[in-house]
Amino acid sequence: MAGILRAMKTLLTLLLALVAGTVAAQPAHPVILVSMDGFRPDYLARGVTPNLNRLAAAGARAVAMRPSFPSITFPNHYTLVTGMRPDHHGIVDNTMIDKAVSDRRFTLSNAEAVVDRRWWDQAEPVWVTAERHGIRTGTMFWPGSEAAIHGVRPTVAPRFDGKLPADARVDMLLSWLDRPAGQRFGFMTLYFDDVDHAGHTFGPAAAQTTEAVALVDQAIGRLLEGLASRHVDANLVIVSDHGMAEVSSERVLPLYRALPPDSYEEVTSGPYAAINPSSPDKEEALAAALAMSLAHMQCWRKQEIPARLAYGRNARVPAFLCLAEPGWSIVFSEKSAAKVKGGKHGYDNAAPDMAATFIAAGPAFKPGVVLQAFDNVDVYPLLMRLLDVAPLPSDGDITPLLPALVE
Ligand SMILES: [Zn+2]
Repeated sequence: MAGILRAMKTLLTLLLALVAGTVAAQPAHPVILVSMDGFRPDYLARGVTPNLNRLAAAGARAVAMRPSFPSITFPNHYTLVTGMRPDHHGIVDNTMIDKAVSDRRFTLSNAEAVVDRRWWDQAEPVWVTAERHGIRTGTMFWPGSEAAIHGVRPTVAPRFDGKLPADARVDMLLSWLDRPAGQRFGFMTLYFDDVDHAGHTFGPAAAQTTEAVALVDQAIGRLLEGLASRHVDANLVIVSDHGMAEVSSERVLPLYRALPPDSYEEVTSGPYAAINPSSPDKEEALAAALAMSLAHMQCWRKQEIPARLAYGRNARVPAFLCLAEPGWSIVFSEKSAAKVKGGKHGYDNAAPDMAATFIAAGPAFKPGVVLQAFDNVDVYPLLMRLLDVAPLPSDGDITPLLPALVE
């Protein structure tokens, strides 16, 4: 019955759009997906988030949202908009090697790689499917949004500018709402990195991190005012990609000392280390060294990573993974050992400190709903429901979110 009603609603929207002289089937209420990078759900209890708390009370929030492994930025942002685990969507790390794509590594600072669709094409994000359905989209920064994934770009996708203040990001999104009636966007994204930066530099418990939390909350307040003054009744989905754990130079794991010299190539290190043998003939010696019991971490060949991490099948995952206990850091040099301080993420995605935030409010959501913890793959089918577009097959399931919806 709900399906028939939805189909009728879609048809009605389409007819109204035709009458208005445009064929694009925009959703009745625009959907705004906001990411607050590194925002742990317990930050909402620090007394500096009146806007977020008001939204949570007016709509739904989750006690926690489980990120996907590895609990880092690019893999989880792509999971949120595809519903697929990093192993399935192909953005398996912030740093990747894939000779089939390029001789150069994928890194966050490699501007060429970030716009190369071949890194992203293993999945299809919300904005691509929406654009194919005639819904215009605008992304105010989201990993992947600068690439023409499957040949499709958002209608507007400004190039990432880390120096652009939070308020200016909000103002740019609000300016999109002032476009002529037939050219407005049905799906928009917004991204704030202040909390993640402060969490890394000073640690999650620091006053500076609380200040960044307050700053992002004020930016959300500015967004809410801008929506109200324009009489835009949007569905807001506010998430984070992962949490943050306190680290210390007292808790470092010098893995390199346990490995035969010249046997390995480090791809990433920190909360986890991803390692390849330096040449095929070194693989067994490396495996033997990693098989010895190492305190405060566990190592696996990629094929043997525990199933609950859903990681290791993708060709881009390096041959070996070592995962540190939360709060510990795997290092490959004395120099990097001395530099460990502040906060880090990337640990086991079930670790409480890695938990992410979920708040949703707007006409589609019931007031005052508190959802039990769910996996971040489940956000994707929710976004597609809000857009009235059928979701593609994914690892997500909308069921845990249904108690929050009005329908
Ligand atoms: Zn992040």
